[in-house]
Amino acid sequence: MEFKLTPLLVGVRRVDQGIMTYQRSYGRRIWLPMWSFLAQNDQQNILIDTGLDYFVAPPEFPQETGLKALLMEDALSSVGLKAEDIDTVINTHLHDDHCGNNLLFTNATFYIQKKELESCRNPHPLDYRFEPDFIEGLNLAQLDGDMELSPGMELIFTPGHTPGSQTVRVNTPNGWYIIPGYCCNKENFPEHGPAACPGVHSDAYLAYDNAQKVKAMEGEILPLHELDVFKIS
Ligand SMILES: [Zn+2]
Repeated sequence: MEFKLTPLLVGVRRVDQGIMTYQRSYGRRIWLPMWSFLAQNDQQNILIDTGLDYFVAPPEFPQETGLKALLMEDALSSVGLKAEDIDTVINTHLHDDHCGNNLLFTNATFYIQKKELESCRNPHPLDYRFEPDFIEGLNLAQLDGDMELSPGMELIFTPGHTPGSQTVRVNTPNGWYIIPGYCCNKENFPEHGPAACPGVHSDAYLAYDNAQKVKAMEGEILPLHELDVFKIS
């Protein structure tokens, strides 16, 4: 089965490149776009990640990139949808920039790894970006490892950035796309040599190993925080 995949820009921050790539490229300021991916077929409206709940885009962002970040409800209405039309939400992980609008989706079933839910409910002091409010009262389908959600939509357990990160592989008319389960941009996937370890991690060795697993998957990678992701739409 093929899905129509549409990236929605639902947040932006200014950060250091080192937040994406461990031990590489520290000291360079970059734009960090937050994407939510809408995957649709005749029966389903699936949302992969839900972005930031609130943000103010600096005026230089649209000037420098030509992109406009929208609040989630405005982004959905730009493609003719309302929050209640979303029947399935997949959170790659539960940092605030990937689940900030979860509570809008009252008709959705949420596919989240069990280990990620446990970490979010009882976060390590270092992981201040887990926000238990964003999983309160959700209709949860808790996963324990890999799962084929439907033909053409695979969830693959790739922990390391967080204890329960999951990568999404989606089949589309243009072939398979891979949405890594962890914060990264295109510098995490150099053409030659190994993939970079994400700059933020709960287990650097595991994060590195799973970055190699993601890089080896068949399909085109859409890094979660890459500006160029808009080009697929
Ligand atoms: Zn992120």
